[in-house]
Amino acid sequence: MILFKEARALRQHLANATLSGLKTGFVPTMGALHEGHISLVGLSKQQADLTVCSIFVNPTQFNDPADFAKYPVTIEQDILLLEQAGCDILFLPPADEIYPEGSPADTYALGKLETLLEGKYRPGHFQGVCQVMKRLLSVVLPDKLFMGQKDYQQCMVIKQLLHITGLPAALIISPTQREASGLAMSSRNVRLSARGKEKAAAIFQSLQWIRHNLHKGTTGALTRQAADMLTAAGFDKIDYISIADAGSLEPVETWDGETKLVVLAAAFLEKVRLIDNLALN
Ligand code: AMP
Repeated sequence: MILFKEARALRQHLANATLSGLKTGFVPTMGALHEGHISLVGLSKQQADLTVCSIFVNPTQFNDPADFAKYPVTIEQDILLLEQAGCDILFLPPADEIYPEGSPADTYALGKLETLLEGKYRPGHFQGVCQVMKRLLSVVLPDKLFMGQKDYQQCMVIKQLLHITGLPAALIISPTQREASGLAMSSRNVRLSARGKEKAAAIFQSLQWIRHNLHKGTTGALTRQAADMLTAAGFDKIDYISIADAGSLEPVETWDGETKLVVLAAAFLEKVRLIDNLALN
């Protein structure tokens, strides 16, 4: 694996690779890598000639400075995992390589995506995601971009970003990797106690419970009962459990039995904010 810290050197390297006809797959991450991230690298290796992973803890997407300060950093282990997974290139830029002093912060027209769910509870988060992704994509110029369904709304936002910017990457959304308990793998899980990790599986169980009990008609009772399940399992605070249109993410209060649905949840356990989602039909 080749490690690049400078955007210019990486851009040059990839331009040469493209000239030789190689197709590039890109896996952007914030590090503290786990099997979820590595599954994206695996998919890229199947579908592209050259796999580039980036590790950059992007300050502009943290609406809570304490969350940024506590974000886990395990760079040596990350490098080992990427080597083992056969990743070809790691881009590990310092902050001023992505945000040079004086470079203006762009804003993106994300419409309702920005005010629903994560957008509502994490103001500015998706603008920060778009800022970093626009910059990373402009350096890597991948043929395919690999992202996890774990961050369902983020995938929708990036689809919109690709549309707005005209950047030609094809977005490939990869299934959520889970612990045996069903808990979605996440870099933030390391901040949970062993007991907390067990309790946290309730988030997936409550989403599955909704999937099993979904029927045509009103959906409110399902989300209320799922919220009760989380509270009973010891979750401190629930930001949302929402049964939503899988395309627009608008809440669906009465289901016609046909519209494609997804259920999304965000809740706190041991002060750690966890998110998960499940396609319902
Ligand atoms: P992050 O480092 O958390 O920003 O995530 C980097 C990429 O990995 C994003 O596209 C995430 O959606 C994806 N990802 C994170 N957790 C998982 C998981 N458990 N399964 C699959 N993909 C994941």
